[in-house]
This record gives sequence, structure tokens and C-alpha cells, in this order.
Amino acid sequence: MNRPNLMLLLLLTIFFSGVHAQNTVQDSIMLSNIYKMALTEGKSYEWLDHLANNIGGRLSGSLEAERAVKYTEAELKELGLDKVWLQSVMVPKWTRGFQEYAYIETGNGNKTTTDICALGGSVATPSLGIKAEVIEVMGLNELASLGKAKISGKIVFFNRAMDPALVQTFAAYSGAADQRYAGAAEAAKYGAVGVIVRSLTLSLDDYPHTGAMSYGDLPEKNWIPAAAISTKGAEYLSSMLKLQPDLKFYFKQNCKNWGDVQSYNVIGEIKGTDFPDKYLVVGGHLDSWDLADGAQDDGAGVVQSMEVLRLFKKLGYKPRHSLRVVLFMNEENGLRGGKKYAEEAKRKNETHVFALESDAGGFTPRGFTFDTDDATFNKIKVWSSLFKPYLIHYFEKGYGGADIAPLKGNIEVLAGLMPDSQRYFDYHHAATDTFDAVNKRELELGAATMASLVYLFDQHGTK
Ligand SMILES: [Zn+2]
Repeated sequence: MNRPNLMLLLLLTIFFSGVHAQNTVQDSIMLSNIYKMALTEGKSYEWLDHLANNIGGRLSGSLEAERAVKYTEAELKELGLDKVWLQSVMVPKWTRGFQEYAYIETGNGNKTTTDICALGGSVATPSLGIKAEVIEVMGLNELASLGKAKISGKIVFFNRAMDPALVQTFAAYSGAADQRYAGAAEAAKYGAVGVIVRSLTLSLDDYPHTGAMSYGDLPEKNWIPAAAISTKGAEYLSSMLKLQPDLKFYFKQNCKNWGDVQSYNVIGEIKGTDFPDKYLVVGGHLDSWDLADGAQDDGAGVVQSMEVLRLFKKLGYKPRHSLRVVLFMNEENGLRGGKKYAEEAKRKNETHVFALESDAGGFTPRGFTFDTDDATFNKIKVWSSLFKPYLIHYFEKGYGGADIAPLKGNIEVLAGLMPDSQRYFDYHHAATDTFDAVNKRELELGAATMASLVYLFDQHGTK
């Protein structure tokens, strides 16, 4: 580092120290070094390139998921960590089969094809497909109010859109996801023969977005096929239903559930110098959906988490607590990896104090959400001024992440990296979630932001 930069940093730090005496000059310098290293000698983008372009979509139980396990294990071993290992976990295997096919048939026999994809976990249609009249509903409540008389023998079309008025797009997603997850199970109870769900995205395009669904406790003989339709397809189908309520919808898919197969979480560890028996965790999920290479969801989180440990090694920083990177398997359709990791931590009586997940895309970081008590959160919030030079400002209480959530109750703090979310659902679970949708600098800034928070927690804790 050259002298003028150091002077500026010192001045900045003295200023911030005046505001928050707890934040030291040393912390400011360390954060500056982390960001500089991530932006000039980062490796996350190169790792993501391989994961996305040489391996591809990594659905649990697939050959690609297995290759991703081997690749990330080998790359972590290259970093010279104290320990790298695989944690065995059984995962559900589901395959899509041939490409789905669907059309809308109007009274005079006209057929208009439309873009659909099977939802993850769905059963196939009969080999010749399903053709039936359609009933459009805006959600599970409306479905229940219509009852068996109106639903029986029909395809239920769930068409509630994500709310565009919400700035936090994850809130808009949560507000519409129930129809995708539980729509088929609920519709089957009223005698529906299939389910078509509007894709969970705010963009109006031709890409269907897949995602997990469940039949709950419905007996297997009553399971009905479920697919997502693109938003443009949903708009078209809805408008056609207004003109001709008795039109027919046809779809065909041959996806299949195969039962559980062997897979792994990938874990790397640097032993702590002062508290070797207290663990800090950074992680993302190694599996992805199969329609694309899963660069945003969650290739980005995987390589950013690996980069945190690499940055510390490169900077010669030896963490006081033991630091683990955990690449979780099967977040998308089972969460088995996250559950397994928490189970093992409990069984071995390991003390976990802090876990940070990146699973919201590789976009420009804005800050973090923290799942912890008020007193702890107030201590963490003091660190936010250290992030101002990097345009990171969002320190709020909130959800940590799906894979680390099973640690709750046995950990002080769960945290989630919060990148800008406006474009995330353009790619989420769709064929558009590819490497070219990730920006190198945005990805690297996310990794640096994570490393900085881990560093602060490692140095100061919250007690
Ligand atoms: Zn994800």
C-alpha cells in the first residue's frame, strides 16, 4: 500500500473512531486490504467459470453435482487449509427427462404452444399427456372456496403474480411461492388432474422458472403433475380464458423421482489460534436447478464463501476462532445438506457462534441481514460504519439463510449476505441463470464484504 492511501485511511478511521470508539484503525486497514485483494487478485470468478461452464447445472444426485463435489474439494485442498473433508449425506434424486411440451387449444381446434417446465419433485403426466379444461385461481384460498364441484377433472392454473410494489423482491417471492410449493397437493384434494403455476419472476418473458414442490402427506396414488408456465404464457392463457372459458390446456412431461442417493457437503477448515473449539461458518449451496448452470443460484455463494478463506490465507490472517467453509448439498429440493451439517455439529457437541450464508445472487452487495437477539444485533450494528467506504449500508435484523437455518438455537448469530435483489428473480431457477449474468466485480465485492464481516466477528465477537 502506498503512503497517501494509508494517510487517507488513517484520517477516515480516526473520524469513524470518533463516531464509534469500538472500531479501530487496525480494522479499517484490514477491511481495506481485504477489498483490495478481492478486486485485484480474486479467484471467485475463475472458480465460478469452471463450476458453471465446465460442470453446469448441479441438481442433487446428478453426475454434475458429483463433479462439483470433487472439483470444490480439490480446489479447497489447494488453499492449504488445515483440513478439507466430505460430509456424507443422502439426497433425493429427481430427473426432468425430455423437454416438456404444452399448448392451449381453442374451440376451432387451434393450438398455440406455450413454454412450461416441470416443478421439481413433480410426477410425470401419462405418456400421452393430459388435456383438460382450465380453472384460473389467484391462490390457495380461492381454490378452497371453489371446492370440488368447480375443480374436479380440471387443470388448476395458479396465476398470482409476485407483487411489483415491493422493493425487497424476496418478500414478493415469499408472497407468491405457496401456490408453487403446495398448489398440486391442495388442487389434488379437490379432484384436479394437473396444476400449472405462473413462474415466480417479476420479468415478463418466455422462460418458465422451476422450483421445489411437495405433495405433503397426500397418498402417492393421488399425486398430480405440476408445471410452471412462463409469465408471458400465463398472461396469454389468462386472456384467452376470458374469451373462451372452456378452452383446453394440454401438457406432457416425463420427470421422475428415483429415491435417495449418496452425496456430500464439502467442508474446509482453518483451525483457530485462540478459540479452536468455537466455530465460524461461511457457506452457500453447491446444488442448483437443472435448467441452467446455476451461476447466480448458488454458484456465486459457493465461490464467495471459498474466497473468504482464500483471502485470509493470502493476507496472512490467522483467525482466532476456527473458520469453516461449508458447501451445502441439496438446498433446492430437500435441504438435506443443511440439516445434516447441523445434526453433526450437535452430535459432536461443537460450539458454533456465527454462520454467514450467501444465497441471494452475486450482485452488488448492500449489506447483511442478522438473525439474533437485539442486544447482539446492536453490537454488530456498530461495525456498519467500517463498511461505508465500500457503499455497504444495510445492517438489519432478518433471515440468515436456508442452509444455516438448522443451526438456529445452537448459535449466537445467523447472517445472510444481502446483495441488490432487483434482477435476481430474472434468473432464479430459470434457463437464464448462467455465468454471463454474473459480473466479476460485483461477485468479488460480495466475497470481500463477507470476509470483512467474518474478520470483525473473529476479532471482536459479540460478548
Ligand atoms: Zn439458492
